[in-house]
Amino acid sequence: MAKQVSNKQVILKHYVTGYLKESDMVFKNTTIKLDDQKGSNAVILKNLYLSCDSYMRSRMRKLEGSYVESFTPGSPITGYGVAKVLGSGNSNFQKGELVWGMTGWEEYSIVTKATDQTLFKIHDKDVPLSYYTGILGMPGITAYAGFYELCSPKKGETVFVSGASGVVGQLVGQFAKMIGCYVVGSAGSKEKVDLLKSKFGFDEAFNYKEEQDLDAALKRCFPDGIDIYFENVGGKMLDAVLLNMKLHGHIAACGMLSQNNLEQTEGVHNLSCLITKRIRMEGFIVFDYFHLYPKYLEMIIPLIKAGNIVYVEDIAEGLESAPSALVGLFSGRNIGKQVVRVSRE
Ligand code: NAP
Repeated sequence: MAKQVSNKQVILKHYVTGYLKESDMVFKNTTIKLDDQKGSNAVILKNLYLSCDSYMRSRMRKLEGSYVESFTPGSPITGYGVAKVLGSGNSNFQKGELVWGMTGWEEYSIVTKATDQTLFKIHDKDVPLSYYTGILGMPGITAYAGFYELCSPKKGETVFVSGASGVVGQLVGQFAKMIGCYVVGSAGSKEKVDLLKSKFGFDEAFNYKEEQDLDAALKRCFPDGIDIYFENVGGKMLDAVLLNMKLHGHIAACGMLSQNNLEQTEGVHNLSCLITKRIRMEGFIVFDYFHLYPKYLEMIIPLIKAGNIVYVEDIAEGLESAPSALVGLFSGRNIGKQVVRVSRE
């Protein structure tokens, strides 16, 4: 007989305006039947790790014509996570398999429309499972596709990465060093700046919160200008970077984290540099690059195992800590990839 168990959930209370607060989310205690889901197309998951990602803030407002849908107030938040299949009526997934992909912010989830493009099987278990929320999951492919596909990097080029201590930034910086680029990153504390230089191998780094003049900080680090800018934060940083790009430079617009909580986004004033400096600036969404995932794994897993790429995570314990962990992204409380451990396997 199917076992009925309690299932704690994180619910979005209402659409959010302004800075995200923990009180915009509430906990709900429900129950769930852990049956085998036979006769349906559904998969029942035990959630092990959840990923805190800044795009989730965008889903907390009413969106129209976006690449993602709004969350539904009153329902559990959804996001990327690592989970174990407890039962499956879907012939693509078997009980006992480990997967990463879209799941609920709850202890157990029923996923009704799982495909091999929304739930990815985990084959290599010699690396920590939590890595599949970051370096081996969606943010990893983002860094890989954004840097190699959009930036056309070459040895000797100068690369600037904002939001550099986040999961995407730390990877892009290391990819750029592997090619032989000169790499500078920005982050929001001394501890993070030290980490960029001592652990991730950035040539230079600065604390954007302490610089009075971002243009001057960039001129100090790049006296001859920037060939490649990997954009994670937007706003004032983008404006200052535009002034410091080299002729024919490339900008990969990955994210604009500084704008996520603003009702009225800041303007960008130096866009004419795109014309005068013949800069190519291109935005991208990782979903368009998921087909590269097998190729990416072939590259990254050996690098991790050989210790040739380093990765820092910030793991919060228990579903109870999830709202606070997500809110913390927007003040930079996390050091490295913010993960929530819901349960051990
Ligand atoms: P992350 O690990 O979540 O890092 C978040 C960091 O951003 C924080 O620790 C904080 O560090 C910094 N931050 C917060 N508020 C900021 C502000 N107002 N100004 C500047 N920095 C701020 O980030 P991630 O997962 O690496 O993601 C990086 C970017 O990629 C985000 O913009 C995200 O939306 C984007 N992304 C895009 C795609 C895509 O398909 N295009 C996919 C995944 C991620 P500090 O202490 O340095 O402030």
